Amino acid sequence: MQRVTVRCEAMVGAQIRPAQDVELHLVDDSGRRVKRRYTIRDLRAGIGEMDLDVVLHGDWPGSTWGRTARPGDEVRFQGPRGKLELRPADWHLMVGDESALPAIAAIADAVAEPSIVVVEIPDPQEQQPVAATDVRWVHRGSHAPGTPDLLLPTVSALDLPGGKGAAYLLGETRSMVALRAVLEARGIAHEAIFVKGYWNVARPDRVSGRAPERPG
Ligand SMILES: Cc1cc2nc3c(=O)[nH]c(=O)nc-3n(C[C@H](O)[C@H](O)[C@H](O)COP(=O)(O)OP(=O)(O)OC[C@H]3O[C@@H](n4cnc5c(N)ncnc54)[C@H](O)[C@@H]3O)c2cc1C
Repeated sequence: MQRVTVRCEAMVGAQIRPAQDVELHLVDDSGRRVKRRYTIRDLRAGIGEMDLDVVLHGDWPGSTWGRTARPGDEVRFQGPRGKLELRPADWHLMVGDESALPAIAAIADAVAEPSIVVVEIPDPQEQQPVAATDVRWVHRGSHAPGTPDLLLPTVSALDLPGGKGAAYLLGETRSMVALRAVLEARGIAHEAIFVKGYWNVARPDRVSGRAPERPG
């Protein structure tokens, strides 16, 4: 994960909801224009400065930008954007992978009620302070990213509080959809679960020569 701080006059005085993001306008290796979304982890609205935490996962446009951005570089973006709204609840559950850690940490900062956080990350070095009541780190180790294999048993075994819960599932699309089924089976209402695909594992037939499938 690499933090990149972006300063922009148009963001001076901006008001954002937790976990809103910006869509960066980047170019890929072939010079083609592409857009990639990154959560505003923190906004210092007085000076129009925002922190973006970028997962470094290889030589792809977003990841490469995070690895190579230097002070003074310019970047174009659209935003703030994003539909996530906090739901009224007695407690909140946030689950995701490292791409959603900035969003999950921002939600944890914002909610007043008790919150439970479960985040899958490669290893303990990727842990960050998260202001939740209960934080569980799931270390992936050599396991492939973007599967629900490790999060499913962890979420299934959680001791959920009583009262009305709200859940936010943010990360690889199919994994998050699989987790929603588990939470519904545990009694959390469909409407109280917000699911957002942040990225998609590439299907084998799309691994080379074609643009990756984008989350809807
Ligand atoms: C609302 C929203 C907010 C987001 N916020 C953040 C954020 O704060 N920080 C962040 O890092 N990402 C965030 N993401 C996810 C990020 O936009 C995607 O991971 C994006 O695909 C990265 O672009 P890329 O050019 O690096 O890779 P792409 O060109 O999109 O994908 C190339 C290959 O990498 C794989 N891939 C993509 N992302 C990952 C990953 N995270 N881990 C492993 N493999 C991956 C794909 O399956 C594909 O095979 C957010 C997405 C959304 C929709």
